[in-house]
Amino acid sequence: MKSIKENEKQGFSKNDHRVIGQELDLFSFSSYVGPGLALWHPNGAVVRGEIESFWKKEHQKAGYKYVYSPIVGLKQLWEKSGHLEHFADCMYPPMDMSLKSKEEQGAYYVKPMSCPFHVAIYQASPHSYKELPIKYCELGNVYRYEASGGLQGLLRVRSITQDDAHIICRPDQFMDELSKVLDFGFHINKVFGYEKFKVYFSVRDLKSKKDKYIDNEPVWQMAEESILQVLKEKNIAYDIDVGGAKFYGPAIDVKAIDKNGKEWQCMTIQLDMNLPQKWGMFYIDHNGQKQVPIMLHRAILGSIERFIGVYLEQCEGKLPVWLAPVQVKILPVSEKHQKYANQIAEKLIENDIRAEVDLSENTISYQIRNAVRQKIPYIVVVGDKEIEKDCLSLRLRGGEKVHDISLSDFMARVAEKIKSKSADL
Ligand SMILES: [Zn+2]
Repeated sequence: MKSIKENEKQGFSKNDHRVIGQELDLFSFSSYVGPGLALWHPNGAVVRGEIESFWKKEHQKAGYKYVYSPIVGLKQLWEKSGHLEHFADCMYPPMDMSLKSKEEQGAYYVKPMSCPFHVAIYQASPHSYKELPIKYCELGNVYRYEASGGLQGLLRVRSITQDDAHIICRPDQFMDELSKVLDFGFHINKVFGYEKFKVYFSVRDLKSKKDKYIDNEPVWQMAEESILQVLKEKNIAYDIDVGGAKFYGPAIDVKAIDKNGKEWQCMTIQLDMNLPQKWGMFYIDHNGQKQVPIMLHRAILGSIERFIGVYLEQCEGKLPVWLAPVQVKILPVSEKHQKYANQIAEKLIENDIRAEVDLSENTISYQIRNAVRQKIPYIVVVGDKEIEKDCLSLRLRGGEKVHDISLSDFMARVAEKIKSKSADL
């Protein structure tokens, strides 16, 4: 592990997410594993897990259904989806299965997107117009070949967890769905304290290489006009991002503005009127006829890795209670106070509060310094006085002290902060 001094030598500021990640023991990269492949430590897994379960719950409430899909797919899949024609530069080279056994045929590619798998799930059974919109969501682990020089901590990685979803709907539904995704995305990002956003309307760069986009001019025009209409109806100001469209359609890209005024990509909503046709997707209309649906591809946080990297810098590592890997650190003044400290920890853990006792032989002031460095929200010091009075003394992150609080009052306070996802203690 690098010391703070070594980090400074590399030119990282103390608020760089790579420095915070090390101090809080959240994640690391290993030259043995490979560049751009983050390893999530137990503390980082707690932060990630909390964000992911919040994300899943909110999606369930908004009518999305969670799915899982494999990490690789046959070459034919990526040919049909258009990825090999339009997106191959960002993909890892294929795995030739004939090298493994004579019976195995073909090559597998690691997925750079989850779309073709969600389409395959849709196509596993026929659908009536009454079932639409169908919304599949997945925290999909995709791999993209980014040039090693462009990799930057969690902000640019090769193993990416996209908070992905595909909304498959009828032509009379997609405008409304587009609008709902925008509202939903703003709502989710606001929970993390982002209040200001900048919206971009991402269109094709008509001067770029011919194979960059699917060639179907009337469909592109219709998709672009529909997006403009939604932005207008919602009274959303936007800038145009020439070249920001995906190969299958135009998009609305939303950037969150952090407290330093820097913009970070969060939401993307892509209107796809091309791939459903190409893939042969259909639903049965009220006359019993086959119709081609429209698909929205969307992500709300962007990638979990980048989102956490940006968020760590935004909150300077002072994670709100609901995300803190250790919410309460209990420090016994001496060995004879350890039993009481353990009892308190057990009670907290029983009540879904993440608590740990410092059982080291270090002095109490050293233990406090250690817990402060780890930016733990609540530090509880247990000595003779606390045992005698059967109450707690707290030190909040930031230094404020609270004396003589009962364990039940303390638990109620922490539980409320977790439930409300508050940034206060
Ligand atoms: Zn997609």
